[in-house]
Amino acid sequence: MRTGGIATAIDLSPPGRWSHVHVVAVLTGILVPALVLAPAISWLTALVFALCGLVHAELARHRALDTPGVPTAAVWIIGAVLVLPLAAVLVVAVVLHAHELLRGARDVGRVLASVGGATLAWLVWPSPADVMSTPAVLVAGLAGLAYLVMADGPALLGVVRRPILAVHPAEAGPGVYGNLFARAALGVLLGLFAHFSVFVVPFILLPAAYLQRAMRGRALHHAAAHDAKTQLWNHAAWQTLSTAALASHRARARSAVLMVDLDHFKRLNDTYGHQAGDDVLTSVAHVLQTTTRRGDIVARFGGEEFSILLPGVTEHEANEAAERIRHRIEALDVTTTNLHGQPTTISGVTASIGVATTHHTEAGVDDLLVKADRFLYEAKELGRNRVCGPALAAAA
Ligand code: GH3
Ligand code: MG
Ligand code: MG
Repeated sequence: MRTGGIATAIDLSPPGRWSHVHVVAVLTGILVPALVLAPAISWLTALVFALCGLVHAELARHRALDTPGVPTAAVWIIGAVLVLPLAAVLVVAVVLHAHELLRGARDVGRVLASVGGATLAWLVWPSPADVMSTPAVLVAGLAGLAYLVMADGPALLGVVRRPILAVHPAEAGPGVYGNLFARAALGVLLGLFAHFSVFVVPFILLPAAYLQRAMRGRALHHAAAHDAKTQLWNHAAWQTLSTAALASHRARARSAVLMVDLDHFKRLNDTYGHQAGDDVLTSVAHVLQTTTRRGDIVARFGGEEFSILLPGVTEHEANEAAERIRHRIEALDVTTTNLHGQPTTISGVTASIGVATTHHTEAGVDDLLVKADRFLYEAKELGRNRVCGPALAAAA
């Protein structure tokens, strides 16, 4: 799915296999026995947890888009796990998730995983007599983690996989780890302190709402610096980052800028449609990210053009990198749909690449871009699907 930076924090994904009717049936199936089984003494506490969770969710909702916003239930569910009997925990979880669904949340699998996570976390937590003893606090942390692993496991796995696959951090999304663990920590604090007084519960609202606001700030920050279609840096961010990278003496002495332009892209759009063209752009962006090193700065310059700063490389290494990129793009098979909505595979996409190197001069990024652009046009004139740069021009 193509999503922008904000959409990484706000779920705009289509509904899964579960229809909302199924989920309402399952949630009601949990809620009714839970209501019957919950001891009367825990009612007030459960009510306060549920009310605070609802207020939190409303505060975090993205009003302009009227989307469910970022998920907020975890803090209140983890808190409830540490202080309430299981039946009451399930009441809190069902109320908060039902509200999310009413507000348009679509990730139904996650809702059910969260209810399962709450049950697992409750089983981990032994409800000790002394909740503030060191072992109890550690077990409370474990229970919080158990909840997160169940509810947010797939999201966590995705984030862990990316560094392993050597994908640039730009793809990891805004502050996934930080937000996850901050929510768990707040939930654990809430649950431990709620043992002393139920009046502690509303106090957590303030930091919880602030955390959500900070997360939205990060999402907007991410969106402002990235190209929504490819998730690469946008040109403005590339210039800022590249200027900073070139400021280091070593990078200034030897660095390179590659300018990559897809060949006959207009023709590809005309043949397969712009949707297919977009899929090719996304695949090429992925190639650029996976064939470069972590310190390299890859951006969508605009349209079907990409700029890459390779700090600390020799001219030879820059040319090798450009050739590697050109070959990988040429070898791409992009699975997409054509103008008639039928599945199709596009192969034989090619790119022309201009390489500019600092050559021990005091070149800034703009000079390098102009030079790379000149070599790019040379590559186009020489017949496309090739790399042109100073060494190659000298050799020719
Ligand atoms: P050349 O080999 O000389 O570079 O030819 P070209 O067709 O690639 O270059 P030209 O500049 O004539 O056309 C670029 C095309 O890129 C035209 C435009 O429709 C397409 N394009 C630009 N941005 C996007 C985009 O975001 N999505 C899609 N699908 N196409 C885009
Ligand atoms: Mg172009
Ligand atoms: Mg082009």
